[in-house]
Amino acid sequence: MLFEQGPIRPPSEAESLLLRFTRNCPWNRCDFCGTYKGTAFSRRSLEEIKQDVDNVCRIVDRIREISWQAGYGGEVNRQVLSEVYRTGSHQVIHVAAWLYRGGKTVFIQDANSLIMKTADLVEAIGYVKRKLPSVERITSYARSKTLAGKSRQELEEIRHAGLSRIHVGMESGSDAVLKYMNKGVTARDHIEGGRRVVEAGISLCEYVLLGLGGRNWPEEHPLETARVLNEINPDFIRMRTLTVIEGTPLYDKLAGGEFAEQTEDEIVAGERLLIENLEGIGSEVVSDHMLNLLEEVCGRLPEQKEYMISVIDRYLSLSEQVRLNFRLGKRTGLYRRLADLNDPARRARVEAMVRRLEAEGRLDGTISSLRASMI
Ligand code: SF4
Repeated sequence: MLFEQGPIRPPSEAESLLLRFTRNCPWNRCDFCGTYKGTAFSRRSLEEIKQDVDNVCRIVDRIREISWQAGYGGEVNRQVLSEVYRTGSHQVIHVAAWLYRGGKTVFIQDANSLIMKTADLVEAIGYVKRKLPSVERITSYARSKTLAGKSRQELEEIRHAGLSRIHVGMESGSDAVLKYMNKGVTARDHIEGGRRVVEAGISLCEYVLLGLGGRNWPEEHPLETARVLNEINPDFIRMRTLTVIEGTPLYDKLAGGEFAEQTEDEIVAGERLLIENLEGIGSEVVSDHMLNLLEEVCGRLPEQKEYMISVIDRYLSLSEQVRLNFRLGKRTGLYRRLADLNDPARRARVEAMVRRLEAEGRLDGTISSLRASMI
């Protein structure tokens, strides 16, 4: 292996070089999360991290050499990229694709790199910046509890070293939901950790999991989440929608009847409640995941709040049959936006599918499994 990489990154880091500073998740107990189940958290030494960065530099040099040999003067263009695709390993291709997109962003893996000692993290980030001078943005995941345990001064040191953005899986602002899901943090931790990041001048992205309150906390989940977000005022609020994954504790709770999922329409109603109650903040609401039924619910607060609510209301005011048509069309990939319902050919195609699946008694099951396949 040339350098280590972990399993996931946020969708917004699709163009980033992925560098692994720690392995897996130090908490690893959230009921809804299957990403790191069965794996153990471990720290990587500074030497290992630096070695990885050095190896990336060697790969960069090799790719530039290919470019020079092909007469492109070191530029990584489509031709160089296809040559690397033809001959390179997965990691060499990853670095080439990163260079092709400008080589400007790095995402530090895995689930909570901020758990590293501040001095080590500062040194590791500084090393990345020195060795890869084209890098303009470095980001990482972190847990609120870990952030709340860092002083403002430590976070400022980390920002000065080069960390530009932190992605936090907030999921919910409701203590009842957080406890039930074994998230290991409280609303207070979210507020303290989030505020500290904002005060330190690091861009903050909070992820909310729509539907996480299930049928037990259909209103508390969005209302408390809005309250906590209002106290933090993060730069970004990113929406995700709950899908219960087989093999997770939440799957067992669902199978045992202890947890009841909301319908997609109930989740959308909760999303409306959340947005309606976001007050006094200037966050950008982002819906960049296929699992969200209404991906067009996005915009800057407060200017586009009414627009976001109007999209939701447009959906909720459709007849039951049209909402069903949209849900199936969205999950099959035939629709992306509500306006796609205006395409008669697509709508008729989806309607035919709805009728067939209803006749076979497979409609709900098909929509659920299509959703599950989008994770
Ligand atoms: S903290 Fe994040 S990565 Fe870790 S178990 Fe919870 S959701 Fe999964």
